[in-house]
Amino acid sequence: MDFNDTPTEAAFRTEVRKFIQSEAPKPQKGQTATEALMGNWQANQEWFKKLGSKGWIAPAWPKEYGGAGMTTVEQFIFNEEMALNKAPRPMHMIIGLGMAGPTLIVHGTDEQKQKFLPGMLAGNDIWCQGYSEPESGSDLASLKTRAVRDGDDYVINGQKIWTTLAHMANYMILLTRTDPDAPKHRGITYFILDMKTPGVEVRPLYNLGNSHEFNEVFFDNVRIPKDNVIGEENRGWYAAVTTLDFERSSIGSATGMKQHVEELLEYAKAHADDPTSTLRTNPMLRYELADRMIETEVARMLSYRVASMQNRGLIPNYEASSLKLFSTELNQRIAKSAMHILGLYGQLHGDAAPGKGRWLSTFLRSAAYTIEGGTSEIQRNIIAQRGLSLPRD
Ligand SMILES: Cc1cc2nc3c(=O)[nH]c(=O)nc-3n(C[C@H](O)[C@H](O)[C@H](O)COP(=O)(O)OP(=O)(O)OC[C@H]3O[C@@H](n4cnc5c(N)ncnc54)[C@H](O)[C@@H]3O)c2cc1C
Repeated sequence: MDFNDTPTEAAFRTEVRKFIQSEAPKPQKGQTATEALMGNWQANQEWFKKLGSKGWIAPAWPKEYGGAGMTTVEQFIFNEEMALNKAPRPMHMIIGLGMAGPTLIVHGTDEQKQKFLPGMLAGNDIWCQGYSEPESGSDLASLKTRAVRDGDDYVINGQKIWTTLAHMANYMILLTRTDPDAPKHRGITYFILDMKTPGVEVRPLYNLGNSHEFNEVFFDNVRIPKDNVIGEENRGWYAAVTTLDFERSSIGSATGMKQHVEELLEYAKAHADDPTSTLRTNPMLRYELADRMIETEVARMLSYRVASMQNRGLIPNYEASSLKLFSTELNQRIAKSAMHILGLYGQLHGDAAPGKGRWLSTFLRSAAYTIEGGTSEIQRNIIAQRGLSLPRD
């Protein structure tokens, strides 16, 4: 099997790589690439405009909706180069262009597409995702936030939690319960909410690394016009699942991981003769590095499988779950190996720390990837039932 790029693909890869290496914003002082943009709106907007100048704002969208209309292979190359070169994705790309826009393209009316897609592409709007609630995460269909029809509006009361970017967003994709008596998947309605509507309150939540990425959002008699329903009343679950498919296919990119392991390897070699080198005190770390290197190859093959299915017009299901599960858990193992190899230096912040302290941020953030977009246990359930045809537990 030949995994090499064709000449055309190789030329595209070189173009993307050169552009990213010269133009992408560089994270500072132990930040991950995403944190670098989250704390710097100007840098986010500049990077967004630069990607726009190449037509790479919405690589996967069809051209008729303002996207780049890239083939699956081109998207894969684009994503691979973004990850390999540690280029952050502008915040617009995460939920707006990456999840809400593609869902609107599939399930929205023409009016809704005309109203909401241009703002995403122009970089005017940030979107957030109002799915999880305090009692409804893995069992998302049990959500309780209530929407009641009142004339041309729906009135919303309830609460969401873990809402990434709600503190910056102008719009939310929102799941609500419109029929409490129907079976749980059949009483859900999917809305677009303007975050400036009276009655919406956003309260910050800080993650393990003391970074403000997500929030709680409360709704107190919030009115949403009926024109903002995506799909039909009580049939929001179908659109909700479409959004999750787009979300899961973007989490857990395998690409940057090999580079992380290579960086660790370089560090270990450069410090092998130090009197405090962990390699000297713990020879088993050599095995750990060997294992991590093999595992990155496995993750890469799993991601090729997903991309090649998409290329043939198939929808990866348990295959996407296998990739998400393996690569997010591998991300944790790599972060742990980094802590083992760096020893106490791994706990340092700031410019003088190895990797400017980035390893600490990576370690602290690594738990979250195995939770967001569906936990590892939920992915294992999907693989057991749909991949291995085992009965439900
Ligand atoms: C960084 C981050 C960002 C997030 N951003 C958003 C966002 O923008 N919008 C949004 O709506 N949500 C967001 N979430 C929430 C995320 O989707 C949920 O945390 C996730 O779905 C798990 O739900 P939960 O936290 O309620 O845990 P629970 O569902 O309560 O699960 C608790 C534990 O029980 C296990 N478990 C639950 N059910 C089963 C089962 N059937 N079989 C086996 N084990 C099970 C889980 O695996 C987990 O270990 C985010 C989460 C994180 C960590």
